[in-house]
Amino acid sequence: MTETVLLIGGGGREHAIARALADSEGDLYACAGNRNPGIAAIATEFKTLETTNPKAVVEFAESVDATLAVIGPEAPLQAGVADELEAAGVYAFGPKEEDARIETDKAFQRRFMQEHDIPGCPDFETFDDMEAACDFIDEYDGDLAIKPAGLTGGKGVKVIGDQVTAAEGEEYIRESDYDRLVLEERLIGEEFTIQAFVANGAFRTAPAVQDHKRAYEGDEGPNTGGMGSYSDATAALPFMTEGDYDAAVSIIEATVDALGDYRGILYGQFMLTAEGPRVIEFNARFGDPEAMNTLPVLETDFLDVLTAARDGESLPELEFADQATVCKYAVPAGYPTDPEAGAKVQIDAESADDALLYYASVDDRDDGIYTTTSRSFALVGVADSISDAEELAEDALAVAGEEGLHIRHDIGTAELVQQRIDHVDELRG
Ligand code: AMP
Repeated sequence: MTETVLLIGGGGREHAIARALADSEGDLYACAGNRNPGIAAIATEFKTLETTNPKAVVEFAESVDATLAVIGPEAPLQAGVADELEAAGVYAFGPKEEDARIETDKAFQRRFMQEHDIPGCPDFETFDDMEAACDFIDEYDGDLAIKPAGLTGGKGVKVIGDQVTAAEGEEYIRESDYDRLVLEERLIGEEFTIQAFVANGAFRTAPAVQDHKRAYEGDEGPNTGGMGSYSDATAALPFMTEGDYDAAVSIIEATVDALGDYRGILYGQFMLTAEGPRVIEFNARFGDPEAMNTLPVLETDFLDVLTAARDGESLPELEFADQATVCKYAVPAGYPTDPEAGAKVQIDAESADDALLYYASVDDRDDGIYTTTSRSFALVGVADSISDAEELAEDALAVAGEEGLHIRHDIGTAELVQQRIDHVDELRG
């Protein structure tokens, strides 16, 4: 049977998913709130619709006779799109609303880890009384991470002792209108992500990736959805040992076991501390940008993974090319605090040459592609080493120019990678 796959979501992550499916036997349809020209060029049809409206998604899935769906972003998962697709008889690779709480409710996630004795959980407390949270900060001996329980696009967390003082943290709590918060032990170390493909009680992991959430070079400035990321030609990153990678995989394994019949991507974000990996959070989907590091080096046919998941079979072992990747996002100038839209994008897939171009949030007009106020596009280099991959991404960024854009050029540079290695060496004494 030829598969008809419906891809839900229109960001860089979903462009990477579309490209991973482009060479597979099957028809690809896509829908998202924003038209992504990269996905539209691959898909048989691209429909603009509200992806947090399960009925609209199901209607489109039925109209194209979808045999499978892949849900990219977290918002449709939280809206129960996987549940509604399943009720309509369309298998969705993405967790049901209840299972997606591992991401969409950080208080649930921490309690879940505690209840199931999943290793790597920081000490935490949950609050629905904001004054009680502020009192807890006053009394706590040490630094805390302040985390709104719900989705904030990765931008709601404030870490005391890093981004804010305790007083600023309390002011942030009082000024925001969050109704639930998690306060947890601040973890110190280097962050990395491992994404696992999960279905039918089993999982397969991808190489580790390091994302850069801070807006400005040298890890300064506000948190963003992610400014870029890199992975190495091996499963681990240069600042980790294989043992660290394996320790993180055991945490994923314990989580998959506890989740039961979870399906989709389980994204583990870890802090490599002096005591080994601890869990910063779980997400219920690929990371954006991390999908753009992982899917270009996935040699196994992604459609085979999806059909095995749907058909109740064991997932194929995943093969990844022994290549490093560096992904750098171009975002609108002023992002994330004061982004200015309307710059014309000066690069396309062809002029990106040896780098891969992934569109994120852009305005596809008759006379060209323009930036919006969200992340615009990413360039990904894939090569034998991180530094070669970094060079490929930079060559393409030079073509794109920088007018109206902001880019973190330090991502994937030898200097920054060395700082990560030195940091972990220092932590481990
Ligand atoms: P999250 O939305 O949970 O991924 O958090 C966003 C960012 O806040 C993470 O990428 C970390 O840099 C930081 N963060 C979250 N939790 C902690 C923690 N317990 N200790 C230190 N930093 C944290």
